[in-house]
Amino acid sequence: MAHEEPDSMPGDDLEWLEDEDSLTEVVDEEQLQGQAANAWLAAEEAYVPLDDGDGYLAVGGADAGSVVSALPAGSTVSEISTAPAVASRDDALAGDRPVYLVHHGARHANFLPVVMGDLHHKKGRSLTLGAVANLPSAKAAKISSFFQQASVAALRIADPQCYRLDDKILRLPPSPIGKRALEYSPYLASPEEPDWLRQVLNAQRAVGANLLLTPGRALNPDDPQNSLDAAFQQADEALALTERGERVALNLTVPSRWLASGALRNRLLDEILDQDQFDVLHIRIQWGASKAFAPTVDADLLMGIRRLANLCVDEGRSLLLPQTGLTGWFALAHGATGFGLGVSGSEQAFTEHAFRRSQPGRQQAQRYFEKQMLHTVDRSAHDVFQHAAGYINCDCVYCPALFDSQPWSHPLAALHHIFSMGALTARVHEDSERGGRHAAVRRIVAVARRWSSGLPLGSDDVPRHLPVWGQAL
Ligand SMILES: [Zn+2]
Repeated sequence: MAHEEPDSMPGDDLEWLEDEDSLTEVVDEEQLQGQAANAWLAAEEAYVPLDDGDGYLAVGGADAGSVVSALPAGSTVSEISTAPAVASRDDALAGDRPVYLVHHGARHANFLPVVMGDLHHKKGRSLTLGAVANLPSAKAAKISSFFQQASVAALRIADPQCYRLDDKILRLPPSPIGKRALEYSPYLASPEEPDWLRQVLNAQRAVGANLLLTPGRALNPDDPQNSLDAAFQQADEALALTERGERVALNLTVPSRWLASGALRNRLLDEILDQDQFDVLHIRIQWGASKAFAPTVDADLLMGIRRLANLCVDEGRSLLLPQTGLTGWFALAHGATGFGLGVSGSEQAFTEHAFRRSQPGRQQAQRYFEKQMLHTVDRSAHDVFQHAAGYINCDCVYCPALFDSQPWSHPLAALHHIFSMGALTARVHEDSERGGRHAAVRRIVAVARRWSSGLPLGSDDVPRHLPVWGQAL
């Protein structure tokens, strides 16, 4: 992968570890962009009964996304539709439906429960939702209230992000553990303390996580065996500290070499195969990228992800690929149980940090996710595509408001993106009767390739991942 190229779609994607303290100046700008989204949200307030008769899903208004047991006085109830019951954690992990993890980042996070509720209502029979928040990025109270409002999520993951301690192995920005991160996650200051593991688990319990993660320190490709031994020993100790009714996922953080290089890949997969005490795997992969919102085109890495996912299917393990965006969606074809994404570029991929010159005054890119093309493009490119033969207008509820609003509403564009990726995830399940998820993904990718091959594309808008995926399917 080339790292020297300047980012052609710069902007928010470079806030790599999104601590609240790095974002103060963003907030004013966001309030403006949020006006269109706020107005839209205020207009809708309704409840939909759950199939099991055990409550109502709020699909608009201040509580959107949450399930309530009793209706507030005077509220409107839909008579034309119902929503599926929320799956249990264990059913979600059993993987009948793909798991779609929504990451709480620093941008537009208060809109996330809304789109999650909308997805659960419309697509919840074909996917299971999960909510993910990073412990070092926000106050515990904020994370708990996110989990409470996003009560359609069957999985709640509070990521301890202990890999921030591993700046010798990963390519992290300078000072990956700032003052706020230490305040929110004091365990990051004391990895040598004897009860450190208990602190890491307790921090997750305190905010209401229902799938606990082992610390997930990074595996060093230059010292593979010692590194694997240490990670699995720590994971075993964490497993021993779990209580009745709790469930813990083996959390690994790996630079992409671990999956792209044959020898390291075999070593990692052998170890996972042997350590069958872990039936849920949460694996974060760091790779290099020169462009935000574009999935990896590294064929060796894709092969590694495929082998890993295949192994998990063969062995009956659940594989979650957090922070992978479209790359994670692609992995559903090979047996991944679920994948995650969020609003910002940094939540579409755990990319290697690379120094880039800042360009003061440069506007945040106006991006639009083209579902039909499986690609995020500049809004100006969308303006061209929408007149192309065969273009299908998005049917999500956010798009009409997005295209009506001036200035461009980044939150509405984000809600459209998160909803559309969820719809694509659901489609993999819906279309899996013929040939399973693999065939479903292959058909969706083939249609995207055919459709986009006829378009007048600027070099920034070419979906370079599609031919590579075509090969890998
Ligand atoms: Zn849309």
